[in-house]
Amino acid sequence: MNLVFVGFILILLGIIIIINPISHDYIWGYISDLSDYNIPLGGLIIAVGIYALYLSTKTESKKSNEPDYFICPSCLHPVVESDVPELRCLKCNLDLEPIKGFYERHPEKKESLTSC
Ligand SMILES: [Zn+2]
Repeated sequence: MNLVFVGFILILLGIIIIINPISHDYIWGYISDLSDYNIPLGGLIIAVGIYALYLSTKTESKKSNEPDYFICPSCLHPVVESDVPELRCLKCNLDLEPIKGFYERHPEKKESLTSC
C-alpha cells in the first residue's frame, strides 16, 4: 500500500470528523455522535496521516541519495558519483572512496580536517 495515499486518506478523514462529528448511517438508522471528542480523535487521525507522509518521504530520499557520495583520500574533496563517473579525483588523479565510513577507516584525516 502506498504510504502517501494512506496519509492523505487519514488526514482527510480527520478533517471530516472535526468539521462534521455527527454522521448519519441511513442503511442501519444509526447516528454516531462524535462531537464530544471529535477534535482529539480527528487530531490523532491527522497526526497518524502526517506521520505516514513523513515516513514515505524519509524512505524515498534514503533510497535516492545514500550511495552516491565519494571523497578523495588526498584532498578530502567530496564528490557526487554522477559528477565523476570514473571515480577519480580531478585534482589528484587518485581513486575516490565512498564517503560512508571514510573517517572510520582513516581517523587521521579527521584530525587534519578539524585542525585547519
Ligand atoms: Zn583529490
